[in-house]
Amino acid sequence: MNAKAYGLTDVGRRREANEDEFLLDDGLGLYAVADGMGGHAAGEVASHLAISTLRESLTSSGWEGAETETDVARAQEALRQAVDEANRKICETVMSREEWRGMGTTVVILLACGERALIGHVGDSRAYLLRNGDFRRLTSDHSWVNEQVKLGLLTEEQAHRHPMRNIVTRALGNRLDVALELNNETFRGGDVFLLCSDGLNSMLSDEEIRTTLEANPDPRDACRALVDAANARGGEDNTTVIVLKVNGNPRT
Ligand code: CA
Repeated sequence: MNAKAYGLTDVGRRREANEDEFLLDDGLGLYAVADGMGGHAAGEVASHLAISTLRESLTSSGWEGAETETDVARAQEALRQAVDEANRKICETVMSREEWRGMGTTVVILLACGERALIGHVGDSRAYLLRNGDFRRLTSDHSWVNEQVKLGLLTEEQAHRHPMRNIVTRALGNRLDVALELNNETFRGGDVFLLCSDGLNSMLSDEEIRTTLEANPDPRDACRALVDAANARGGEDNTTVIVLKVNGNPRT
């Protein structure tokens, strides 16, 4: 997998602190966004623990990196273990101090494994793929509003503006047996993968995200343009984006 990746995080226009964190490690082929929650700086603690533990766990598991490791089953197992480890550490921290009750974090991860991209997530941070003009979500939010959408009780449009849209139904730090949802995709030349916190997709529609990505072929420009667009729309939350573009031309 020959790709160029860039990441950017921004506090936004309304919040005093940035509780998001991201990880971009081309050697490991590991890209992740975590969106922390909980008062008294707890969100920052949770997202930081998630990101640092993911990296440490994969490194110590003997993971050989994006280029050499091509065993998808082994990669899935390494990723599950890394997320379990991160969850366990956050749960222990939550239990250690009264003021950290309710602390947690989402996480969305892309792990490159040879020609495959493993996509894992917990919570409402998202992964998207732009391929040959086709733009789609690779993750399904673990959120109350998305459950209502799946049940046919809310439309996507209603969910987007719903007062309970921030309620996450699955997060690291909430319970010891958190389930990582895993998918995978084959990398193709020209693919653009986007990982983001909900600060992006709560301010912009999927169509706006798609047109911004298409207008900015370089990952660095795309990250800047996405964050600027979210802030121009109000910047109500922290916004974090990682854009990974696979080199080569799209197959026709
Ligand atoms: Ca958020």
